[in-house]
Amino acid sequence: MSSDANTPVLRNCIRLPLAEDELLEVTAKAKDYAIMHGAAMRSKTAFSPDSLNFAPFVLVPSSFPRKEFEKAVALQPIINRLMHNVAHDEEFITTTLAETIKVDEFTANLFNIYRKVLAHGFTQAYSIGLLRSDYMAHVSEGCAIKQVEINTVASSFAGIATQLVPQQKFVLSEMGHADKLHNMPDNNALAGLCDGMVKAWDIYAKPKAVILFIIEDVSYNICDQRFHEFYIRETYPHIKVLRRTLTEVHREGKLGQSKELLLGSQEVAVIYFRAGYEPGHYHSQAEWDARYLMETSLAIKCPSIHYHLAGTKKVQQALAQPAVLERFINDPEEIKAVGKIFTGLYSLDDNEAGNASYEMALRTPERFVLKPQREGGGNNVYGVDIPDALKRMSRVERSAWILMDLIHPPLTKGYMVRPGGDMPPQIVDMVSELGIFGVVIGDAEHIVHNYQAGHMLRTKLSTANEGGVAAGLGALDSPYLI
Ligand code: ADP
Ligand code: MG
Ligand code: MG
Repeated sequence: MSSDANTPVLRNCIRLPLAEDELLEVTAKAKDYAIMHGAAMRSKTAFSPDSLNFAPFVLVPSSFPRKEFEKAVALQPIINRLMHNVAHDEEFITTTLAETIKVDEFTANLFNIYRKVLAHGFTQAYSIGLLRSDYMAHVSEGCAIKQVEINTVASSFAGIATQLVPQQKFVLSEMGHADKLHNMPDNNALAGLCDGMVKAWDIYAKPKAVILFIIEDVSYNICDQRFHEFYIRETYPHIKVLRRTLTEVHREGKLGQSKELLLGSQEVAVIYFRAGYEPGHYHSQAEWDARYLMETSLAIKCPSIHYHLAGTKKVQQALAQPAVLERFINDPEEIKAVGKIFTGLYSLDDNEAGNASYEMALRTPERFVLKPQREGGGNNVYGVDIPDALKRMSRVERSAWILMDLIHPPLTKGYMVRPGGDMPPQIVDMVSELGIFGVVIGDAEHIVHNYQAGHMLRTKLSTANEGGVAAGLGALDSPYLI
């Protein structure tokens, strides 16, 4: 749990509760607005390839401190550069992950691909990172933002988040608050990320080559993915997007004479991974072989294997240690600014420092969250559950995990609307996590594109440990700046 009775509550953008008849009317409209504008997903409980449910959303935008939002936006190009530099630092990645890969099979498999690619030399010097840096405001530091994590693979929700701003503006306007719309920042996440993919496609410089999306066997978050595909085709009519699973790439993919990736007769310029970030996406060696094939190809990968590894929780933990940032950032002001967004992150490697963190976690577990090298939500262990989890592990097994200070975000109050949920919805206590998207393209020597590209807000019940929207615990939202 991330809050208690003393947690401060942020001022709401409008007075609540709403009168019941108004709430019923505007909620019904907002649900239809969401479905009609693609703020939607496929249902996990009643899956049909022919129908969609609206994605859970917060009716009225949740407040977020303006200064902190602006700080996060301004920091993104620095974080992009940081991650680009980390991804290209072979020694840092190798030493940082050395203990982890002894016990974490999935990270070891990724690392093996990296090792093999290093041994043969990179076929494609350029990488594209579509990153999302996630934050929560931390109440005990005046609501200063703290980084929850950085994502370098399958950073999702740019498509739907872009739709949420007009949806919540519609709701505010319906309720007579058009004067407040200017406090909701524009969100161009979708265009920003897709234009990034097309910039990479331009670098590849083959007019007939396609952009390949690597997808799961079943894409529940289909609208978010399709928004990217449709935006690319609508904005750049000559560029085709293909969607393939890792299994299909294994079946159909091969390398041409210049190591270009070929699917049938189609050459692939850019590979955008929306799958491949968790063990369940690799059913057998075939999927690993497909990943390796793509990695050794000439296609520009989003992410390339070194970018993927740079986004592991272990690397994030290493970056937060004193003086490490100096290795990657020159400007002392920038080092200071980035250092401030880190909260305590501790190694659990099998050494003196790791053993000290272990003891600390057993003594005061309520201060911490325990994280494995996984993505996609639902993998962490919180507070009082940590000692048992740690005690079940051997000393070496612990090095697959990191320990992190819990961030305590302020509360907001509002209506969370979910498919099949209460009508009218009830007012609940919620907390929000802000994601800032960034695009960075370059090779080991140069960065050729680096920009911030929109944002997303996910909001969950204050009593929930995690708020994955795809996992059904959180809701889509956008910041109302106060
Ligand atoms: P993943 O890569 O699986 O998304 P995260 O590090 O983002 O992993 O953790 C998942 C969720 O757990 C976050 O979205 C957030 O709700 C919660 N969480 C993670 N780290 C913290 C933290 N330090 N303090 C409070 N909540 C956290
Ligand atoms: Mg993640
Ligand atoms: Mg996350």
